[in-house]
Amino acid sequence: MYENTEVNGHRYNKETDTVEITTRNGQTIFAKKVIYSAGYEGTDIKKEKTVSFVSTYTVTTNQIADLSTWYKRTLIWETARPYLYLRTTDDNRIIIGGLDDHTNYPEDRDSKLMHKKNKLIQELKHMFPAIHAEPEFFSAAFYGGTVDGIPIIGKYDAFPNSYFLYAFRDNGTVYSQLLAKLIVQEITEGYCEEVSLYLEDRPQLDQKNVH
Ligand SMILES: Cc1cc2nc3c(=O)[nH]c(=O)nc-3n(C[C@H](O)[C@H](O)[C@H](O)COP(=O)(O)OP(=O)(O)OC[C@H]3O[C@@H](n4cnc5c(N)ncnc54)[C@H](O)[C@@H]3O)c2cc1C
Repeated sequence: MYENTEVNGHRYNKETDTVEITTRNGQTIFAKKVIYSAGYEGTDIKKEKTVSFVSTYTVTTNQIADLSTWYKRTLIWETARPYLYLRTTDDNRIIIGGLDDHTNYPEDRDSKLMHKKNKLIQELKHMFPAIHAEPEFFSAAFYGGTVDGIPIIGKYDAFPNSYFLYAFRDNGTVYSQLLAKLIVQEITEGYCEEVSLYLEDRPQLDQKNVH
């Protein structure tokens, strides 16, 4: 285990059939197999043309004394586009997020934060007029997804003995755990049938097949 260690290079050694991973603090790690599970940064290591990014925004409010007008404090997720999602926290705050924007430039994304914050609070007041909420924390972030909405296990000729886990989108926390299991099974047992469902060259990811 090499915790808190940033990977900054890779080289396939044909003679030993291993991958040499270099780190920012000057170490070299020799591996039979490599799984790149670097989140969005994985696309900096290996660009994947079927992954794209938008910008998304969230606000967390002050602690609300009375949330009784919110039925069972149910999680709300709109199917509208642009969408909103809302939930309460254990310490009685409200998190409201969404209003995604198509930009994928950090400066453009961040310049819209104040406007999006005000808009999110406005939407909250519209949905819950009896709740008096003020924004206490707010943030902007990139949000990535694949063309067909399904995560990708990337196996590329340019990266022998390596897997790329692109577990993005709305169920990314679930996708990442599921696909990690499949990759481990393929490595340790030599075969995993389900891996083929997620490969980067599946027909569903072909832009020509996306309507
Ligand atoms: C605003 C937002 C809201 C979301 N909401 C939901 C949701 O409601 N439900 C849901 O299921 N998913 C949600 N997701 C998606 C989910 O967070 C991701 O899909 C999931 O975290 C992906 O897991 P991962 O382990 O593949 O990557 P990550 O969780 O991104 O972990 C990657 C790790 O790799 C590290 N890393 C990167 N580069 C290097 C390097 N060179 N060397 C070493 N380490 C490196 C990073 O520091 C990071 O710790 C949301 C994402 C965003 C941005």
